[in-house]
Amino acid sequence: MSVWDYANPQLKDLVAYEPGKPIEDVARELGLAPEDIIKLASNENPLGPSPKAQEAMQKVIAEAHIYPDGGGWKLRTAIAEKFGLERSNVILGSGSNEVIEFIGHAFLQPGDNVITAKHAFLVYKLMAKVFGAETIEVPDPGYVHDLDAMAAAITPQTKEIFVANPNNPTGTLVSQEQIDRFMAKVPPHVVVVFDEAYYEFLDNPPDTLKFVREGRNVIVLRTFSKIQGLAGLRIGYGLGPPELIEVLQRTRQPFNTNAVAQAAALAGLLDQEHQDKTKRITDEGRDYLQGQFTEMGLEYVPSYANFVLVKVGDGNAVFKAMMQKGVIVRAMAAYKLPEWIRISIGTLEQCQRCIQVLKEVL
Ligand SMILES: *Cc1c(COP(=O)(O)O)cnc(C)c1O
Repeated sequence: MSVWDYANPQLKDLVAYEPGKPIEDVARELGLAPEDIIKLASNENPLGPSPKAQEAMQKVIAEAHIYPDGGGWKLRTAIAEKFGLERSNVILGSGSNEVIEFIGHAFLQPGDNVITAKHAFLVYKLMAKVFGAETIEVPDPGYVHDLDAMAAAITPQTKEIFVANPNNPTGTLVSQEQIDRFMAKVPPHVVVVFDEAYYEFLDNPPDTLKFVREGRNVIVLRTFSKIQGLAGLRIGYGLGPPELIEVLQRTRQPFNTNAVAQAAALAGLLDQEHQDKTKRITDEGRDYLQGQFTEMGLEYVPSYANFVLVKVGDGNAVFKAMMQKGVIVRAMAAYKLPEWIRISIGTLEQCQRCIQVLKEVL
């Protein structure tokens, strides 16, 4: 008898998410010094966390023996104030990825389906699978979500639609007009999830919070992992109408976000200067990378986020060869893009080294 005879059957063909390769692993495997390696593989903030967040973390470390505020009162209040919402509109997650899991707990059963774009963030499909739901992957011409086609794909069994805006790994954006037209077509029983992990990098972000205010069946996901530089702490949030948030609250563990993360997130949220600086560096690095790709004759997908998807031939081979030279990027075969790599935007210096190494490898 095997464990598989009694484990949930949908887990059998679930392929685990493969994260960006850690610097330490590469250093160990290749005998390189960690400080000679740069990681441009997980869309992390090259400036690190805000100094104010670091200070806030130091302060709470001495109180680590006390359970965190399970209700996340202060942080949820500050988030709500920032967006002109109420605390009851906010749920915290151990990363916004955890909120994706809450939504699954709340709405998915075997036989249901979830709609995503063909090249959407992989976690949506993984989570659907965990709950025994199917994922309908809708073609995305030019690597842009086709919201009309996604609305047309809705069936009576559809429970959730994910719109990653900008999407990861493509970096593409759908407009306000496309979103409004889409929302006019979505029936009330379908939860629409706007995943806005890269929202703060946009110059003119579409407004999806208006749907939250209108009480539509909408969750907007945001995270402290990207522009805030707190990926290691695992903290993000969802914004939605109070009744929907209340349903999600029932699916979570009592202390799902830790005290250090809550303190850092609160300080980081209020540190606009650090976010502005990060955005400036990202804009500069994106211009540089995309300019270099054009000069090198490489096809790339113009990005609205802090990474760029670029076509290099054998993505896996290029990823490995670059890693040998101390630059970690991300191969994209898991996203059905075997000829592409995704490069996170680092400091200008890191971007320059990355291009240097890419040129050597090609
Ligand atoms: C990085 C990312 C997230 C954030 O994940 P966390 O769990 O908050 O670290 C969510 N959605 C997308 C599309 C992402 O790229």
